[in-house]
Amino acid sequence: MINLYKKARLLYTWACTSTKTTAAIDVTNSCNLKCSHCYWWKEERPPELDDHAMVSFMKDLRAQGMTAAIIYGGEPMMRPGMCAAASRIFDHPLIFTNGTQGFSSIDAQWILSLDGTREVHDSIRGTGTYDAAVANLRKAPRKPVVHATITQQNRHDLEAFLEALSGLPIKGVGFSFYTPHKHGAEDSLAIPIAERGAILDELLGMRKKYWRIMGLTTTMANQFRQDGEFSAWNSIEKCPVSKVCNCYNADGTPKPCTYGHSADCSHCGCASIPLYRAAIRHLDPLALFMIYRMVN
Ligand code: SF4
Ligand code: SF4
Repeated sequence: MINLYKKARLLYTWACTSTKTTAAIDVTNSCNLKCSHCYWWKEERPPELDDHAMVSFMKDLRAQGMTAAIIYGGEPMMRPGMCAAASRIFDHPLIFTNGTQGFSSIDAQWILSLDGTREVHDSIRGTGTYDAAVANLRKAPRKPVVHATITQQNRHDLEAFLEALSGLPIKGVGFSFYTPHKHGAEDSLAIPIAERGAILDELLGMRKKYWRIMGLTTTMANQFRQDGEFSAWNSIEKCPVSKVCNCYNADGTPKPCTYGHSADCSHCGCASIPLYRAAIRHLDPLALFMIYRMVN
């Protein structure tokens, strides 16, 4: 009952106030992978806080009213102690992971990054990474949510990917489109915005078969579409993530976006914004249900 109240309070705060209750924290600069679509290993970054300073930093954020935390890296499970600390400090911890380092028994919701079937995923994230992540997923103490980033590398793999996921113990799968960075080195990976609609239609067409896991609704898809509501939020001034969430580097300094300093808002493909806008602005019941299940 207390948990239900806390979730309801978080949703109310997101929807009806300008109070920032969410912190997105890079708890480490380390990662064991070098994924082709990741900006992380291509940027310079400040040295990370040591364990004592990171715990103090997180406690300070909680004392300032940040009840929800999204834990990123690098790979957060390169510092499992900091994941455990975040789970104790925050009411609603979400931890993004590549899954290769396992899932510990802490009180947090895991978001597992998988980007396709074995062959496609491994071509993006490295040989053996799919099998390692799925083997760990099968042993996870609670069902993760899967997050997939759609790029030119996996756009034709989505149905086979959903078929593979449908046999796994997961809560569901959400989709982002790859967000290019302003330096543009990886732009060849991005799906042109005008082509998003066909991919979204393909996914929506698979909802009947994969309803148990499909984390996309018509209202959410409309947020990504060029002829939908995309232009209502695709700038740093209008971005809802910036409104409800503060983002921090691993040294505790602020950064403008979870995607780093140079993300191209005009081509943003972040899954959390369609979910947020569908749930909070449009009261899409399925999107609200997804948030309810995802928030710890
Ligand atoms: S696992 Fe995550 S942080 Fe590491 S290289 Fe891949 S996308 Fe980047
Ligand atoms: S790139 Fe970042 S700041 Fe820009 S719209 Fe997307 S989530 Fe918001």
